[in-house]
Amino acid sequence: MTSPSETGQGSRRTAPVGHAAMRSANLSLLLRHLHAHGGRSRATLAQETGLSKASVTSLVSDLVERGLVQEGSVERRGAVGRPGTEVRLAPQHVAGIGLELNVDYLAVCMRDLAGQVRFTDSVPMPYALDPAASDGRFYPLAPILDLAAEQLQRALTAAAAQGLWVAAATIAPPGPIDYDEARVRFASNLGWADVPLGEELGRRLGEGHPMLTLENDAKLSALAEAPRLARRGITDLVYLTGDMGVGAGIIAEGRLIRGWSGFSGEVGHIGLDPAGEWCRCGRRGCWETMVGFDTVLDALDEDDPARSGRLPMLERLALIRALLEAGHAPLQERFTRLAGDLVRGAGVLVDVLNPQAIVLGGYFGHFADLLVAPVQAALDERLLAPDGRVEVSASSLGLEAAAAGGAAVALDRVLDDPLLAPVLRG
Ligand SMILES: [Zn+2]
Repeated sequence: MTSPSETGQGSRRTAPVGHAAMRSANLSLLLRHLHAHGGRSRATLAQETGLSKASVTSLVSDLVERGLVQEGSVERRGAVGRPGTEVRLAPQHVAGIGLELNVDYLAVCMRDLAGQVRFTDSVPMPYALDPAASDGRFYPLAPILDLAAEQLQRALTAAAAQGLWVAAATIAPPGPIDYDEARVRFASNLGWADVPLGEELGRRLGEGHPMLTLENDAKLSALAEAPRLARRGITDLVYLTGDMGVGAGIIAEGRLIRGWSGFSGEVGHIGLDPAGEWCRCGRRGCWETMVGFDTVLDALDEDDPARSGRLPMLERLALIRALLEAGHAPLQERFTRLAGDLVRGAGVLVDVLNPQAIVLGGYFGHFADLLVAPVQAALDERLLAPDGRVEVSASSLGLEAAAAGGAAVALDRVLDDPLLAPVLRG
């Protein structure tokens, strides 16, 4: 049976439903407009969105009631008419959380609706890689899930203490995801396959936990970095995360590319050398066997403390930096070759995707001073045509890019449906 709304008939009978959906869509339109363009008066909002002034006034009071927007200073634009009071996103009531779970650390970030960071924390992965684990998992599943839930709980406790309602939390595991089921399909560097991450974390957090969704770390990093580049007219970019593994977040014409089943961006496993080293994914000569963080650690002395996964990642990177500056020859040689090895894979990405920008994240971004210029020069040299030039830069978000992207994606939930936010009391 077809409902009247589907056939477009009987609009009078379905009017209440249509009205609610329309109202929700208009609330979202206003909220997203303020999110994208910043505070402005009701009159300007009406002009720019095409909604009537009366509608804008009514919708804004709904948004105020839910703590999503607030009145600001007097708008000073234009000479015609009375200056209006500016309406802008309210920072004090609604937040989103992102959690990155990778081989080296678990980083959590909470941001409010106005984009301010309200809580961050990062703990190093306390378990060492066990290549001989009997269950095939290089890193133990249950204790790491406990740790991830603890990190989320810390952020939730901070939210409660600051009076913030959490719209959702986005978890970023290092590998492709089954979005519908909130499962990790596989994470080759953890040795995990088919893990119901959303369900496991939800159970640990207990009743009343916020909605948990999953997104790939590189994709979240790309989303976190995209607005900065979009302000300069860059809509096509590839974000490369450098960790034990290497992944890419691909944004084309301003949109994140997930691929047919979410596997896009698994660029660390592009085969570049059939006779190369074995990769943890089971293939040979994958790009990440040439540029993964392991390849830097391999240049260190056997007992170098930077090899220890027990130290925070930033400390390990600082130790490596100190060795480079002290003239550690194998490490210096490794970084010289690293730029060339990066170009081997990046060149393929440039030829396939024709991005305007490549953003180096993870440890690549941390050593941007050593990598950006040679990678840029080598990519310029192999250009097919001058207008195919790609700009190479470092991530502005450091090791927190994925967690920050996760928090932003979590807030999308309330930007899409503002009625999810609870009405403020009193
Ligand atoms: Zn591989």
